[in-house]
Amino acid sequence: MTAYLIRNVSVVGGAPTDLLIRDGVVAETGAGLTAPDATVLDATGLVALPGLVDLHTHLREPGREDAETVESGSRAAALGGYTAVCAMANTSPVADTAGVVEQVWRLGREAGLVDVQPIGAVTVGLAGERLAELGAMADSAARVRIFSDDGHCVADPKLMRRALEYVKAFDGVVAQHAEEPRLTEGAQMHEGEVSTRLGLTGWPAVAEEAIIARDVLLAEHVGSRLHICHVSTAGSVEVLRHAKARGVKVTAEVTPHHLLLTDEKATTYDPVYKVNPPLRTAADIAALRAALAEGVIDIVATDHAPHAVEDKECEWAYARPGMLGLETALSITLDVLGPQWDLIAERMSRAPARIAGLDGHGLDPAPGVPANLTLVDPAARRVIEPAELASRSRNTPYARMTLPGRIVATFLRGEPTVLDGKAVR
Ligand SMILES: [Zn+2]
Repeated sequence: MTAYLIRNVSVVGGAPTDLLIRDGVVAETGAGLTAPDATVLDATGLVALPGLVDLHTHLREPGREDAETVESGSRAAALGGYTAVCAMANTSPVADTAGVVEQVWRLGREAGLVDVQPIGAVTVGLAGERLAELGAMADSAARVRIFSDDGHCVADPKLMRRALEYVKAFDGVVAQHAEEPRLTEGAQMHEGEVSTRLGLTGWPAVAEEAIIARDVLLAEHVGSRLHICHVSTAGSVEVLRHAKARGVKVTAEVTPHHLLLTDEKATTYDPVYKVNPPLRTAADIAALRAALAEGVIDIVATDHAPHAVEDKECEWAYARPGMLGLETALSITLDVLGPQWDLIAERMSRAPARIAGLDGHGLDPAPGVPANLTLVDPAARRVIEPAELASRSRNTPYARMTLPGRIVATFLRGEPTVLDGKAVR
């Protein structure tokens, strides 16, 4: 195993120092380290962060390997600075048994570019009718701790209650895609002034807020951990603020695109902007940004949702919802929060690792800590070219935009997965 001496790096925004990586861990830190056997990386001007952790990634394998595979998604993640991703269960077949989650987990190990932690479905086939084998998935080699029907809401309150009760036994968490399905039938975009102007059926904010309100009450009643996926409205922030003040064990995520893009994008009719929940208003963005800074929203999660060309480059009404996110998330978050490195480390690494219970991730580089880390050049600016992305899909909403920050290197347990901004393999 090669040793690496990273010279003159700012650890989470601190004064420049050296980091020696050996045998998979950070062996030493301090100025003027020497290690004759180590490969030296000059990191002057770079910031070291704990490897990023994504709680919400769609890897599409098994079933839609034309859109993404565990390997291509892992490579995209490493290039984005990630060392661990949680893979959503809406594959084909659905990850609702020990067999499927173990398959995804094994594919992640074989790719070896990030740790792939499978998420298990809450209900069989995501159909919302009966609970999947949550215990068997928790006991499997994949050790599933997060359960989600993402893509669908667990709309039945009795099933949601039972899922929350069940996961309590192994300190699991239910991650809810909050969308009251009766309120979003036929919805094409955010319900508001723009949808009225375009004559498109709206997805009202209350469809999200009503489910979050119900579920925080259920979580409080049961005493379980609840996580809310992709919070998108100002009203949801207020419900979460209230719940957290009451001591409810709820955490929440926001996506980069909901921090940056508004429903005005729908006026282009370019389906790259179609996503679920939909892009909201500037007022929602302002509330989400404030909630992320304050901690009412705990983490940034990508909702990386690759889609094949035929599912995306068609009429708006027929296009599948979702956007790529792994290779641009750090840049968007840096753009939104500014160079607040401690806050970025908290929202993109430490807190998601805690929620997912991922040992060895989300730890600041320090002696004895597993060397899961990423090096960022905050001064770099790059133009996003879809053809250059490592994802198998091309549905990025940031095509040809210039974004701040560039991932220079990523290490997984001391082995580089990215060097000089390029995937090692
Ligand atoms: Zn979702």
